[in-house]
Amino acid sequence: MTNRNIKAIKWFINTQLLGKWYNVAYATFKVTSKCNLKCTFCNPAYYSGTLEEGSTERLKKVIDNLRDSSVVVLSFEGGEPTTRPDILDLLGYAHDGSFYVMLTTNGYRLGDPSFLSKISERIDFLHYSIDEYHWNLKALDNLCKFREFGLKVNVQTVVTRYNINTLEDKVKKVRECGYKILLMPAVDYPDSKVKLEPDKEQFYQVLSYLKGKYGSTLNNSWGFIRALKGEFPKRLTSYAITIYPNGDLPYPDDINGEVIGNLSQNKLGELLNSYRAKELRRKMMENSARYEYLHLQTASFNSIKDLAEYAREMGKWAFTGKA
Ligand code: SF4
Repeated sequence: MTNRNIKAIKWFINTQLLGKWYNVAYATFKVTSKCNLKCTFCNPAYYSGTLEEGSTERLKKVIDNLRDSSVVVLSFEGGEPTTRPDILDLLGYAHDGSFYVMLTTNGYRLGDPSFLSKISERIDFLHYSIDEYHWNLKALDNLCKFREFGLKVNVQTVVTRYNINTLEDKVKKVRECGYKILLMPAVDYPDSKVKLEPDKEQFYQVLSYLKGKYGSTLNNSWGFIRALKGEFPKRLTSYAITIYPNGDLPYPDDINGEVIGNLSQNKLGELLNSYRAKELRRKMMENSARYEYLHLQTASFNSIKDLAEYAREMGKWAFTGKA
């Protein structure tokens, strides 16, 4: 059993049996704030390159820190993470069995077979953002080609009030390749000029229809879907964190939180156990309506039924390569 699976079992015991629910399992590492695109719904902080970026060595320290923590899934995101010249080095460093490594990309470098081949040796799951707002819908027509590289692809599609009725075609194309699709709601930031966020009730209706019909092709958990209509899990917690490109930890997330330390210097467990983190968690729970996507998706793991179903789906995908 690899280290990441032992960590997953320890995480389960600590959170579900011992009540230490501040142990996180999922880390979104935003390794850069540079991007080759400027999507309408994106927070400019994530494409303007204004967030301080850590050096390769500093980011490796962050990875070491996470290796010693409860984090089981490490997702490299941005900005566009492949704009970092050291991205292959960082992915390779993380891919030693300590984590399930994911890479989230808008795909602009995936046309290069040599790069793709190197990526496929260093990650477990490729998260490919495809939708109208990334201007790359055509990628759905040629999606199955990633099978040649042995990649497990999870398409990430941002759902807005304008494309919510076009989702089924996308799900069908993803299903043909045996991949998964995650439908993420656009978030309107306070200063967003264009309002894109989908209506919650409508999003609930569409997601439950698609999940009922296409099952595990949809990566959204039932727990997340039910939360859209206000049916939250009994214990409303989160098992996800976001990390900035310089290693800073905004807590509980980058939208509602504040930086509580830097993971190239401070142990994650100590930061999460601090008085400040406890206070911020308390505030987050009082304001559950503003929960970010990842909090809701991971909070649904507090239902053993939802967790078992999710683990079954992911296990099947990891071992058979088919969603
Ligand atoms: S590709 Fe991603 S990071 Fe870049 S602008 Fe679009 S949403 Fe933002």
